[in-house]
Amino acid sequence: MHSVFPEKIELLVDGRWVQGSERNTAELVNPATAEVLTEIPLAGVADLQRALDASVKGFSVWKEMTAAGRCEALRKAAELMAADKERIATILTMENGKPLAEARAEIEFSVEALQWYAEEGKRAYGRMIPGRLENQRQIVLKEPVGPVAAFAAWNFPAANVVRKIGGALGAGCSLTLKASEETPGTAVAIARCLEKAGLPEGALQLVFGVPDEISSYLLASPVIRKVSLTGSTAVGKLLQRRAAETLKRCTMELGGHAPVIVHHDADIEKSVAVLIAAKYRNAGQVCTSPTRFYVHQDLYTPFVQLFAEKAAHLKLGNGLEAGTQVGPVITRRRLAAIESLVRDAETKGARLLTGGRRIERDGNFFAPTVLADVPSSARILREEPFGPVASIMPFSHFDDVIERANSTPYGLASFVFTRDAALAQRTELALEAGLVGVNNTAISAPETPFGGVNESGYGSEGGIEGLEGYLRTKFISEVF
Ligand code: NAD
Repeated sequence: MHSVFPEKIELLVDGRWVQGSERNTAELVNPATAEVLTEIPLAGVADLQRALDASVKGFSVWKEMTAAGRCEALRKAAELMAADKERIATILTMENGKPLAEARAEIEFSVEALQWYAEEGKRAYGRMIPGRLENQRQIVLKEPVGPVAAFAAWNFPAANVVRKIGGALGAGCSLTLKASEETPGTAVAIARCLEKAGLPEGALQLVFGVPDEISSYLLASPVIRKVSLTGSTAVGKLLQRRAAETLKRCTMELGGHAPVIVHHDADIEKSVAVLIAAKYRNAGQVCTSPTRFYVHQDLYTPFVQLFAEKAAHLKLGNGLEAGTQVGPVITRRRLAAIESLVRDAETKGARLLTGGRRIERDGNFFAPTVLADVPSSARILREEPFGPVASIMPFSHFDDVIERANSTPYGLASFVFTRDAALAQRTELALEAGLVGVNNTAISAPETPFGGVNESGYGSEGGIEGLEGYLRTKFISEVF
């Protein structure tokens, strides 16, 4: 097939780039144009078994290297990624749809995250505890848990992948990664950087295929000691059940339904500016995307007006075109799901202020949408919209807004806007969430822990907690 897509999609197994042994393929489609970009090879059982065997071999070599040696390889890979930023960002936009500026920022984040994990791997410290016996040394060692299987969603094709690669390899584990079939090119480009940086064979495998078949096969194997997923809560529960059979440990970065509380004293202009950028980033397909906006009744009308006005002026288009602020959603299936949530809210009494419809053109475009006065019976207040839709509601009492903010099973991100530090603190402590942004939405950096509570999952990616998830503890008592 002739393709202008700037990456050849292959599987990486045991240090070699291969096509699937069964020669099955799928099409990669550009969500902004509906064009077929290229073909994706799908792994069969033989490829997965080779990946498992290779991950055992790769683990034995990688874990025996010095932490400084592993750091060097990962830092080199990060340098190669930085040098290839423009090309990888273009691939990312072609397959995911997000504006090129967002894709570039994501590559910059990913380079930093890889550098950070590279360094932090040198600080996987244990400790010494004073002995109780004569000449006794009590030593706490931190060891890599073993071969890891990881599954990454398509919404951050670079960052989701690099967080898993950085955490696992930084800790000295080997990794078999199933990146998303919607965005394979970015993952391949990143894996090539690691391979060129001199990673030992088998330390990293990259596969694509039928997701359920891949997780069934990999998770049934006792070889895999840890599972890491960025994906939906439903898939998280399925993988955790599979992991339970051989008691693998899990890190689960799952869905969210982030509440925003705008208190009576918030700066309307500043909070709207910050929230518009956060809401429509990646067309709302972000697990931490602000989704349920609870605005104090004193500010409600001007806040809603300004928010809707700004949303209506966002420029929708192909992410490769200059000036585009909002790209397409990932699949046509998502368009229908978002549309159905908006119709349901309208039917139940919500006011549609802007958007609310798909755009009739090639590609999966949904207009930036604002719903006001959304009643609590609307499905959109419980189901993750994962699209460019904001639901805004008034509130008047603290306890009431906290109860509403905490009313979903999710608990990932939450946001608070106020000038009152004491009120901010009361709100921060009352929210059921793994992440709280106060007067800002910058809740994810390489050095900070990122993760949810309740049905948003558990465990962190990023920060020392991110590395800790790939380490196990050994206690040694020595007497000489
Ligand atoms: P999804 O759970 O269907 O897919 C996510 C990843 O898991 C993909 O790579 C997919 O191929 C894979 N997958 C799907 N079914 C699988 C199976 N049976 N076995 C193994 N892998 C499987 O989710 P999606 O709809 O593609 O992505 C969006 C979801 O991901 C949203 O719910 C979103 O909130 C969540 N998400 C969470 C975070 C986070 O860090 N908490 C980040 C991004 C996305």
